Amino acid sequence: MPTVELFTDVALGVAIPSRNARGRIARVTRVVDSILAAHQYPPLVERLLAQALTLTALLGSLLKEPQGQLTLQAQTEGGPIDLMVCDYLGGELRGYVRHDAEKLEGLPEEPTLQQLFGKGYLAITFDQPVANERYQGIVPLEGKNLGEAAQSYFSQSEQIPSLVRLAAEKRGEHWFAGGLLLQHLPEGEEGRERLHTRLDHPDWPHVAILGGSVKAEELTDPGLALDDLIWRLFHEEGEVRTLAAIKLGRGCRCDPAYVRSVIAKFPEDEREAMVGDDGFIRVDCAFCSSSFSFEPKELSR
Ligand SMILES: [Zn+2]
Repeated sequence: MPTVELFTDVALGVAIPSRNARGRIARVTRVVDSILAAHQYPPLVERLLAQALTLTALLGSLLKEPQGQLTLQAQTEGGPIDLMVCDYLGGELRGYVRHDAEKLEGLPEEPTLQQLFGKGYLAITFDQPVANERYQGIVPLEGKNLGEAAQSYFSQSEQIPSLVRLAAEKRGEHWFAGGLLLQHLPEGEEGRERLHTRLDHPDWPHVAILGGSVKAEELTDPGLALDDLIWRLFHEEGEVRTLAAIKLGRGCRCDPAYVRSVIAKFPEDEREAMVGDDGFIRVDCAFCSSSFSFEPKELSR
């Protein structure tokens, strides 16, 4: 098996069998830089998207199918940010944010989710096409940060005691982001048979305290290997296992042929209205900012 380096742009599975705890730890640096490079977001938005991409990596790497897709989508009203979308497919991440720069001014350096999104919800969609499983959960965008929102979603809606920590920091020109997700799964993680999960199980507070002691600097430090960090947190446990590591990359699935086929389906008069001053129909990919242009003539058959 090829070895995957465990310092950055990677998600690593973690298990503490004696405590029935499992989870993921992830760090993203170059991937975040390259996704952000396609946009010119203010620092607040960059930090938010860096954390959202880290959460996407943590949740996406839980998917069992290589073809599985995980999507995070924030839908909001009245805040500086009105749309945020991130997704994960086979270790590839992408994401973008739509925001109102004027409304962002005057926010504190670490705004709450409510200050960023106004009234909003985060939809988390797990899609596993081979097993034909699609599951969507909705999280209110409340709390200090996305980690807190995801944690309360798992604990309250899913009845799975969970810990989620996310951190993102810009040093010089580069972003460093990392995250930890731990879950208490005494009934096993298969299926949805979690009715008997007890929130007061004595093993969980112990794991949550050790996991919760992780520092933001540790999550974002690209010189600290993820397995070393897990060992640092849980070395007192009888057994700590690291599972498969998934290499993370930046990926966009925008495809000129697909974009062309979508435009070609519009009625001719609507296509005419799309033609710009230069005589071309231009479509930009919101994720990677790629621009596609088509001659109106080549679209009508
Ligand atoms: Zn794209």
